[in-house]
Amino acid sequence: MFDLSGKVALVTGAASGIGLETSRTLTGLGATVIITDRNVEALVEVSENLLPGAIALALDVTAQGDWDRVYQSVADKFGCLDILVNNAGIMKAEPFEKCDIDTFRLQQRINVEGVYMGMQGAIPLMRKALAEGKGSASIVNISSIYATNAGAEFAAYTATKAAVLGLSKAVAFELAGTGIRVNCVLPGPIATNLSADWEPLRDSEGNVLSLEEQLAPWVDKIPMGRIGMADDVAPVIAFLASDAAKFVTGSEYVVDGGYTAP
Ligand code: NAD
Repeated sequence: MFDLSGKVALVTGAASGIGLETSRTLTGLGATVIITDRNVEALVEVSENLLPGAIALALDVTAQGDWDRVYQSVADKFGCLDILVNNAGIMKAEPFEKCDIDTFRLQQRINVEGVYMGMQGAIPLMRKALAEGKGSASIVNISSIYATNAGAEFAAYTATKAAVLGLSKAVAFELAGTGIRVNCVLPGPIATNLSADWEPLRDSEGNVLSLEEQLAPWVDKIPMGRIGMADDVAPVIAFLASDAAKFVTGSEYVVDGGYTAP
């Protein structure tokens, strides 16, 4: 049911975390996966050592020219696209009163405008896939539980992830008759490198906290008693990408160990 043989998938932010695990999962299910990231060094490392079968293309999701180049390559090589996972994203935790507009705009450009451009460019290639008789085409956008729930110091990030959710539903509704499905996944706290591009968190003595130390305070908030892992999220993305979800569009799938259940 989850067989993705014959499907061509593109994943953004695939050099790390949820994007990397999703690329691994889609590959394991038989898809041909195009892994993309703005971090070319990490992308090369992944394509050489972790996912040797994957096609690696540099893509900064904020650059329309990058999207055009990547989709041209997909068109030249495959003629169509079946699956797009808009996963690339950044998060900056900062009190609202201190979070300047440039910090908000940077998150907006990557987390929202990247998804917008990614979807727009994918649609013509997905229409081609459907015209060739493929079952359904699927866009999965990675939002966050912060799209629907507040968290201290995440106002700017929250705004971007709520925008991703709204955008996904609007496009899902508009495209519902075409066979192109659009859904959102809303992860809770997941152990990845998210935030690592920013100033690292430190303890009171100035020592940089390890990933485990950074995430430890979250465990108490998660009813299932542990932080999520990328492989908790990737199978949900794979389901939405697959024809098993052929009647699912405009939906939101929360993957948070019960964090938002109360
Ligand atoms: P991560 O930092 O491990 O991976 C993000 C990847 O995106 C990195 O490889 C990075 O190079 C890439 N990226 C960043 N900016 C980019 C750009 N402009 N163009 C192309 N690639 C870019 O983090 P992750 O946790 O795997 O994040 C994946 C997605 O999951 C993000 O959208 C994030 O907001 C979302 N998310 C994560 C969590 C969590 O707790 N980790 C929770 C909810 C949602």
